Amino acid sequence: MTRRIDVPRDLKDFAEVFKAAGYSCYFVGGAVRDRLLGLSASDWDAATDARPEDVKKLFKSVIPTGIQHGTVTVHWRGGSIETTTFRVDGEYKDGRRPVSVCFTSDLLEDLSRRDFTINGMAVDPATGEIVDPNGGLEDLAAGLIKAIGDPVARFEEDGLRPLRAVRFAARFGFSIDPATLAAIPATVERFRLVSAERIRDEFTRILVSSRAGEGLLRLDEAGLLTEFLPELTACKDVGQGGPHCYDVFRHQVAACEAAPADLVLRLAALLHDIGKPTKRTEAGDGSLTFYGHDLESARLAEKALRRLKYPNAIIDEVVTLVKHHMFDYAEDWTDAAVRRFVARVGIEHVKPLAILRLADTTGLGHGPADPRSVMPLIDRVEELRAKDQAFGIKDLAIRGNDLAAIGWPKGPSMGRALAELLEAVLDDPELNTREKLLEIAGHIKEKHGVR
Ligand code: ATP
Ligand code: MG
Repeated sequence: MTRRIDVPRDLKDFAEVFKAAGYSCYFVGGAVRDRLLGLSASDWDAATDARPEDVKKLFKSVIPTGIQHGTVTVHWRGGSIETTTFRVDGEYKDGRRPVSVCFTSDLLEDLSRRDFTINGMAVDPATGEIVDPNGGLEDLAAGLIKAIGDPVARFEEDGLRPLRAVRFAARFGFSIDPATLAAIPATVERFRLVSAERIRDEFTRILVSSRAGEGLLRLDEAGLLTEFLPELTACKDVGQGGPHCYDVFRHQVAACEAAPADLVLRLAALLHDIGKPTKRTEAGDGSLTFYGHDLESARLAEKALRRLKYPNAIIDEVVTLVKHHMFDYAEDWTDAAVRRFVARVGIEHVKPLAILRLADTTGLGHGPADPRSVMPLIDRVEELRAKDQAFGIKDLAIRGNDLAAIGWPKGPSMGRALAELLEAVLDDPELNTREKLLEIAGHIKEKHGVR
C-alpha cells in the first residue's frame, strides 16, 4: 500500500500558516484513511502542537467548538477545518469522556490515543508522507479493524468504541481483528454507560450507510444491538409464515437495507413490525395473524426512539409511517379510496409511505419489489391535488365560522360536523362548494337536533 497521499492545495497552505509561526500541523484520522483507500475525503481534520489560544491568533475566524478537548474550528477559504491540539487522554472514569485532557507536543502520542489502527495515521501535508506508528497501513491492506494497544483496556476507556468498530467494519466491508472482537462482550458493562446521544449518532451513521443491513447483523452478532434496541432483537426467531422468507428481525433488516439512505425511512423500515412478537396469534389451522401490530409497532418505535434521544421531528415522522404502513394499493382503488387514504395519513406522508411499502415488500426476500405496484398512487394523488380536491378539513369550502353563521353552536359538535362534511366531499368532490356544504350542514343539524 502506498505510503503517500496527495493533500489538496488549500490544506497545504493551511498547514503552512502553522509552519511559518513555528508550529507543526498534520492531517489525521478519517480523511487519511479514506484517501489511502482511494475514496474521496470530505472532512480533513488537522492536528497541531499549537494550543487552541495560539491557533486563535493565527487565523481571522476561529470558533471554539470543542475547546474542552482542545478543538477549534477554523474558517479557511470558504470551508472549515476542525483543528485539535495534540493530546493524550487522561483517565476515563465512567467510560464516557476522558476526565482530563493533557496536551502534548508529540504527534505519535496523539496518534496512539486514537481508537483503531486505521484511524491512527497522519499525513505530513508538505510531503504527502504517511506517519503510521500503529501499523495502520498494514491493517488497511488486510481489511482489519484493530484496536490500538490492548482492546479490552481501550474499550474500558471509552465504551463507544465497540460500536465504532462495527460501524467501520460494515462501512468498508472489513473484518474485526479477533482480539478486538473478543473484547466487545468482555466490556459490555462499559458500553452500558455510554450516553444515548453518542450511541444514537454512531447508530445513525450505520443506518444511513450503504451497508446498513450488514452493519445491523454485525451489531447483533457482537451482542450490542440488544443492549440499545431490545425491541428489535426480540423479533429474532419470530416466524411469520405466508409469503415471508425471514423471521420478523431479518425481514426488518432487509426492509431497512432496501429503503433509500434516509434516516427517517431507514428507521421506519427497521421498526415497522416490532409490535409483531406481542401480537402474534396462531389460528387453529396453524396460520398466523398479527392484528393490531401496526399500532403496537408505532408505540414501541416511539418508546425506543425517545430512549435513544432522536429529535421529536424524526420520531413523529417515523411513528406516523410505522402506524400507517399497512395498506395495499391496487390499480382498482377508486378516486374516493385514494382521497380517503390521503385524508387518513396526511398528504405529506403519501410518498414516504409508498417508498416504505416497496422496501417492506423487498424485505420479504423474493427480490426487489416492482415500483409499479405502489408508485402510481403518488401520481394519482398529484392528479387529484391538481384538480384542487379536498383531502382534509382545511380544504373544505367552509369553516367553523360559516357553521356558526347558520346558528351552529361552537364546541365539539362543530368539529364532528366538519368531519361529516369532509366524508361527503371525499366521496363526491363536487359537493365542495360553500352553498352545497351549508345545505348539507343544515341537514346534519336537523338530523342531530342541534340548535
Ligand atoms: P468518518 O469518516 O466516519 O467521520 P472518522 O474516522 O473521521 O470517520 P470521526 O468520528 O469523525 O471518525 O473521528 C475522527 C477521528 O478521531 C477518528 O479517525 C479517530 O482517530 C478519532 N476518534 C474519534 N472517536 C474516537 C473515540 N471514541 N476514541 C478514540 N479515538 C476516536
Ligand atoms: Mg470524521
